[in-house]
Amino acid sequence: ALLFEVSRTTAINAYRHLEKDGYVSIKNGSGTYVSDRYSFESSTNTEIPWPQLLKPYIQSSMASLMSELMVSNVLEDKISLDAGMPDPDYYPVDIFSKLHRDYSAELDPRDFGHIPIHGYEPLRHTITQMLASEGIRCHADEVVILSGSQQGLYLTARVLIEPGDYVVIQAPTYLGAIQVFQSLGARVLSLPQREDFPLEILEDYLARYRPKLLYCIPTFRNPDGTVMNTGERKKLIQLAARYRLAILEDDPYSNYYYEDTPPASLKSLDDYGGVVYLSTFSKILMPGLRLGYMVAHPSLINRIILEKQYVDLHSNNISQWLLDLFIKDGYLANHLIKMRGIYRNRRNVMVDALNLGLKSKLSFQIPQGGFYVWCKINENISPKKLLQEALKMGVSFVPGEAFYAAAGEEYEFRLCFSRHNEKIILEGISRLEKAIGKLRKG
Ligand code: PMP
Repeated sequence: ALLFEVSRTTAINAYRHLEKDGYVSIKNGSGTYVSDRYSFESSTNTEIPWPQLLKPYIQSSMASLMSELMVSNVLEDKISLDAGMPDPDYYPVDIFSKLHRDYSAELDPRDFGHIPIHGYEPLRHTITQMLASEGIRCHADEVVILSGSQQGLYLTARVLIEPGDYVVIQAPTYLGAIQVFQSLGARVLSLPQREDFPLEILEDYLARYRPKLLYCIPTFRNPDGTVMNTGERKKLIQLAARYRLAILEDDPYSNYYYEDTPPASLKSLDDYGGVVYLSTFSKILMPGLRLGYMVAHPSLINRIILEKQYVDLHSNNISQWLLDLFIKDGYLANHLIKMRGIYRNRRNVMVDALNLGLKSKLSFQIPQGGFYVWCKINENISPKKLLQEALKMGVSFVPGEAFYAAAGEEYEFRLCFSRHNEKIILEGISRLEKAIGKLRKG
């Protein structure tokens, strides 16, 4: 055992602190007692003690790293290859303004009042039609408009997960999903990173742990850009149907393909009603719209609606009205064609620059879609150390460990190519090269 010597003053100060915060009660003639419960009566502090009133929560180990990255974003010429977002220079703000001007006169003022929790009726129908063209046949009653797909992740987990329940994820995967599951007390089981989908491991988990939910991003997964093939999708649906496993299919990136169109979604293959399909307009348009949607079995949708009512009554109808016009007037289809070309080019520039300057030091697959290049460092350089060095040089990325529920591969990181133009991407990769070079020397 370790023994530390503490001075008398330190001990007295500690007691004073506890007394001020209401954790110490002094009983005359008996002594001073420390309790683990806050006592309002014995506190001498007049300010409300928020930390004691808050219920316990589970903090993600990556929370502090992510906030460091956010702070670093304020650096003037910082190149952020971290945030997974579209390029703000291409937000179609002018078209949204024009639609607002052109259609305001036709608007029924009641559309700016409260609307049904499911969302703005015309948009739900438009989305149903859009989905039909992608092979997802659903009734408008099976569609809920969400305030971003993050809300869908939370609501789905909230209505399904009790503390201690198991959730299966593919490792690595989207940090925001892992955090939601863990914050609700789920035990997260990770499927290992492999070229193919590890169906036999999933089956083993199903037999042993009876998980409630599988969370997956089958198309251009965040962070590693991988795609599940059609055969694997079909087998996964069969297996899930056999074990009555719900699948949460998160699909923000399938519209951003740079080669062939990707395989049909799990939802389009869903013959047992178990797939909960989530998508968003954050990546294909602009995250500030805060609009996404869910398609699922009516029994689940009914509970989601109840839960969503507690959170925000319904999503913003002005955004929904404008988005509906944007899609109906054909702007979304055009925007997607344009942005696919732009992001394809940026991907090529990033991949070429990595091949040119860092080929022997990094390994990566060329992503066929989405926003990310997932890099493995071939040398003994920790991505966290590399990030510290890179931040000094004004470039950022996300260390791989952010995408694992438990300790994962150590030598990985994610680069995002959507946010900046080609020139800045080249400068960013050159700064990264310098940072790696410096650590190799050091
Ligand atoms: N899922 C995935 C895989 C994501 O990458 C993101 C955005 N980073 C989200 C969900 C959440 O997006 P939003 O809430 O903006 O729709």
